[in-house]
Amino acid sequence: MLPHPRNNRSRFTLRGYELVAMLLIIGTVAPAIAEEAAAFASVSWNPRQLRVGSPCLFKVETSAAPSSLKGKWQGRDLVFFSAGPQHVWYGLAGVDVEAMPGSYKLELEATMPDGRVLHDVQEVRVRPSTYKTERLKVPDRFVQPDAEALKQIEADQELKKKAFSRQTAAPEWSGSFHAPINSTVSEGFGTRRTFNGKLASIHRGLDYHAKEGTPVTAANAGTVVLAQGLFYEGNCVIIDHGQRFTTLYMHLSQIQVAEGEKVKEGQQIGLSGDTGRATGPHLHLAVRWQGAYLDPAQLWMLSLPILP
Ligand SMILES: [Zn+2]
Repeated sequence: MLPHPRNNRSRFTLRGYELVAMLLIIGTVAPAIAEEAAAFASVSWNPRQLRVGSPCLFKVETSAAPSSLKGKWQGRDLVFFSAGPQHVWYGLAGVDVEAMPGSYKLELEATMPDGRVLHDVQEVRVRPSTYKTERLKVPDRFVQPDAEALKQIEADQELKKKAFSRQTAAPEWSGSFHAPINSTVSEGFGTRRTFNGKLASIHRGLDYHAKEGTPVTAANAGTVVLAQGLFYEGNCVIIDHGQRFTTLYMHLSQIQVAEGEKVKEGQQIGLSGDTGRATGPHLHLAVRWQGAYLDPAQLWMLSLPILP
């Protein structure tokens, strides 16, 4: 085997390049090198500074259009999609509210039309987020559910597991996500609730002030994967926006969509309420990507491309 030539300015494997070099004259090889080296012309993400709990949009620009582009991020698979031109690829993802700050790898794998597979790895820094800590004084708030409730909680787990397991190759959202209610936030994302200094729970969503009967709308286009009453969540709607990126709407007084239904961004899906384990009428909204809970407020601020 011949020694494998490497382009110092590129981190990609130029497999088969030496054969090409032997067969072609320098003048025709040069553009080929430039093209391969530029297969990953640029990799960027928005927001530019990622924090624990951030949703994010990865953008990969390629000059030679691959036929598919996959990635790995935070131990999860990421399938990129192109919006319009074949050389601009996107992946909607995020960093779980419980992830550790630090440096993480974004691994990319592009399959070219001729079958070659190109790799790239980016180091992405995830900064810490400052979340409020709420110290609980009254232990009675942790009421033990009775046997019947435990049975329902267990059944709910199965329903949610099924809802979250829906697999779609392409996104169903298009453009930016929007807040599902015209109201103010009553409790922010990520609040740590401690009891006797021990972490008891993390608030994995946003609470909005909402008197009973306030219209709740879909944050973006998608498919309803769950629409029914659950023990803790009360009347709950889960919308899958494709590629296991979901939004959850809880404690509704009324559900106005059915499982399997396609919804548009801004479409009314129910009315707010205080069903399930709620201390009063409000809307709890959560954003979940492949098991990672992300900050909804940051998702509303994220500018996303219009998809065909
Ligand atoms: Zn909440």
